[in-house]
Amino acid sequence: MALDAIQHINLTGKTMIFFGTRGKTVSGQVIEGTQCPNCENQQFITFGIIRYFHLYWIPTFPTSKTVGIECTHCKRTLVDNELPPELAKQIKKTVFNKKNVIPMFSGLIIIACLILYGVYAAQQYDIQEAVYIEQPAVNDLYIVNFTKIFTDVDPKYKYGLMRIKQISADQAEFQVSKIAYNKISGVRKDIRERKTSSDSYYDSEPLYIDIGKLKSMKDTGAIYSIDRI
Ligand SMILES: [Zn+2]
Repeated sequence: MALDAIQHINLTGKTMIFFGTRGKTVSGQVIEGTQCPNCENQQFITFGIIRYFHLYWIPTFPTSKTVGIECTHCKRTLVDNELPPELAKQIKKTVFNKKNVIPMFSGLIIIACLILYGVYAAQQYDIQEAVYIEQPAVNDLYIVNFTKIFTDVDPKYKYGLMRIKQISADQAEFQVSKIAYNKISGVRKDIRERKTSSDSYYDSEPLYIDIGKLKSMKDTGAIYSIDRI
């Protein structure tokens, strides 16, 4: 095929990630017996402040926990070291209970679920792909690494697409895309936007590959992934 006909498309992608720390106040019980240094009232509301790391404003894990008390009369607050250690310990136990603390790990829990799902989906995909390789079908789309299929390819733009046009006894006839990207995402986008369903997306010169060779092409990374629509 005429490789000089391949059009090179350069993609640059940047994703912004929002993260940082934030604080959340949780209030606890009312306690009596400690005297307010300001107004001599003896009634306080206990509270805790949980600082947490967030990813896109989803609490991911706590970074610090502070306890305090607030005078119910004059609103004067005493925190951490200003409290008798024994009292601080007690307040910690009540305000940082499971109900208040577990939600601070939401992000980690979500990430763990996504990873587990990802592993599961990848396994399912591998099983499916093995079937596609053994029983190729017309219109199967192969995302490929051109540098491992053709010589004389610009290594910067290695990702392209091949589509099965016909299958004979032991050979598949592929159409080869006229476009090559520096990133796989470029090919995927063309598939999503259905540009790849038109014959004009492909070069007119066919490429014949023995079906028995597809497996080893997958193993060497010449074939990156297979889509069947
Ligand atoms: Zn007070």
